[in-house]
Amino acid sequence: MILRLTRHHLDLLREESQKTYPVEACAMLFGDLTSEGAVIRKVVVAPNKLLSSERFEIAPEMAVEATTKAEDEGLDFVGLFHSHPAPAIPSTIDLKFMKLWGDAIWLILSSTDDNFAAYRMRDSEPTEMTIIVK
Ligand SMILES: [Zn+2]
Repeated sequence: MILRLTRHHLDLLREESQKTYPVEACAMLFGDLTSEGAVIRKVVVAPNKLLSSERFEIAPEMAVEATTKAEDEGLDFVGLFHSHPAPAIPSTIDLKFMKLWGDAIWLILSSTDDNFAAYRMRDSEPTEMTIIVK
């Protein structure tokens, strides 16, 4: 599976993560779901309601607003981004929520080693995606 996004998206997410560190940064990802994976066309950063360095939550009203706006622009909800002050590997809490979110893509940035990784659940297992930056 492939996740495509632009250098601009990565810069935006990196910037947000540096700003909120050590609190986890979070964002919603919108674009197109394709047979090979997904293409991100829009990133909407949102405050981490929990102000935590171990978990994140986006306020439901912000999530609804961002999704409605993206849908008006012809974009699908593709997944969620958050940063870790640790390696870019899903935590136990992440795995629990990944199972609930079904097809959503989870993009994680490690603020400690600046490494991005993307995952999607496949047969109840997190599967790492190939990230292509253009
Ligand atoms: Zn996490």
